[in-house]
Amino acid sequence: MSIADFSGRSRLDACPGALQVHAAADGGLARVRVPGGRLTPSQLRELADAASAYGGGVIELTSRANVQVRGLGPENPDGGAGGGFAARMAGAGLLPSATHERIRNILASPLTGLTGLAELTGLVGRAGPTDAYGPGGAEHRGHPGRPGGGPIVDVTPLIGELDRRLCARPALAALPGRFMFALDDGRGDVAGLGADAGILPTGPDEVALILAGTDTGLRVPLDGAVTALLAAAGAFLDELTTRDVTAWRIAELPDGPSLIAARVRTALGIPGTAPFEPVSLRVVTLGPVGVIGSAGMTEPGVEVGVEGGEGGDARVALGVAVPLGRLTSASARLLADVASGGEIRLTPWRGVVLPGLERAEVAGTAARLEAAGLVVDPASLWVGVTACTGRPGCAKSLADVQADAATAIGLTPPPSLPPPSVALPSTVPPSGSDSSGSGPPVAPPSGSGPGTDTLPVHWAGCARRCGRPRGRVADVVATGDGYRLELDGTGLTCSGIEETAAAVAAARGEL
Ligand code: SF4
Repeated sequence: MSIADFSGRSRLDACPGALQVHAAADGGLARVRVPGGRLTPSQLRELADAASAYGGGVIELTSRANVQVRGLGPENPDGGAGGGFAARMAGAGLLPSATHERIRNILASPLTGLTGLAELTGLVGRAGPTDAYGPGGAEHRGHPGRPGGGPIVDVTPLIGELDRRLCARPALAALPGRFMFALDDGRGDVAGLGADAGILPTGPDEVALILAGTDTGLRVPLDGAVTALLAAAGAFLDELTTRDVTAWRIAELPDGPSLIAARVRTALGIPGTAPFEPVSLRVVTLGPVGVIGSAGMTEPGVEVGVEGGEGGDARVALGVAVPLGRLTSASARLLADVASGGEIRLTPWRGVVLPGLERAEVAGTAARLEAAGLVVDPASLWVGVTACTGRPGCAKSLADVQADAATAIGLTPPPSLPPPSVALPSTVPPSGSDSSGSGPPVAPPSGSGPGTDTLPVHWAGCARRCGRPRGRVADVVATGDGYRLELDGTGLTCSGIEETAAAVAAARGEL
């Protein structure tokens, strides 16, 4: 299909914001953008207090490192800035622009400027080598700019610059609320997460412009990265206007990346396409969980804001998984209390990184978080488990998927214990043997088991599968009288939660 044949969407997107509250089945839903996932402890406390005062007392973490609060009452019909939740967010500095609030979707490498991960300890031990942090993970995957992989620049300054300049351009307020930017520091952790416009450094002074997951061949200086990203956003709007179509993402436009890249070249005066070696992009499906050490950068001559590098003060960071991405107000306050480094970083994997912790305090901090139901053990069964809203928050849902996902975790024994007395499907089919019926089960990954691989699992209340992570994921979709587990084109219909839990555990290699 060419762009000439593309008729576009029939309506503008209706992504919620703090001011533009969505009417969900369980009340108002407000979403607060958090560029780079960066929060101060006082901002997180204010979020916790406002979530309790105006909503259901839970802060949901999103796959864009934003947060949302459900169950807002009728006193917030439009999140009115004159009072209520939105005013609290504005007071906390989390709503700097009423006109641009929904488009401040900015992912950034959550560990940027902290460490080269050379001493990374205990991170997502059950993750596969191509889709998670940890040895063999992102930091070891190379691309043309950095054969050894790993961070190249600290993108922290770019977060604020992009946010400020984005909000300063009135025309860009017309961007859809789904439009997303990504600032990858070179380790390749967020560049492959499907942002509309992102950067991936190819060296200390140059970045590749990535549009809708495509390396366009555009290379710009690091200090021109924000200009290029804003040019791409403007070019997207211009393309929609020229074609008189509606779209929410660059990927929805046929030939979208090349069309936008051509406009960016013209806008920035970059001459025509030169031969280039495309950067490698991958989908990181699991975030950092556990203690992140402080060895710092290992590549000579590369300056990154390192915490406690060689001879430094040996501060560490702590990766925290949040079960189903749901932070209670109490847990959020605890995170704020233990964030002695003065910062909380939300991750696109619905988790949190606490940078700047003293090595001596990290064990006690981890124990307090675990006691509150948060996860710092990379071997936890919670790691990699996500769910959509489900009942009662979504009227379309066929099940309370979050409760069922939690029940399934409870039914699944730790890997060292015997499996539950659930009738497991008896055989494992050849790959691709069943794509439609209720036939043989999904094959567990080869070589899986405790400490080796974790397969992400997403529970959904209907076939829309909202919030599904990118990449290879096992889908658990409600059918009305059970669930259907789908993976790699194979499927298994399960009649109850126990059967579903067993099938999921088998697929993840936990039995
Ligand atoms: S996947 Fe279906 S049930 Fe779940 S939140 Fe989306 S629409 Fe609702």
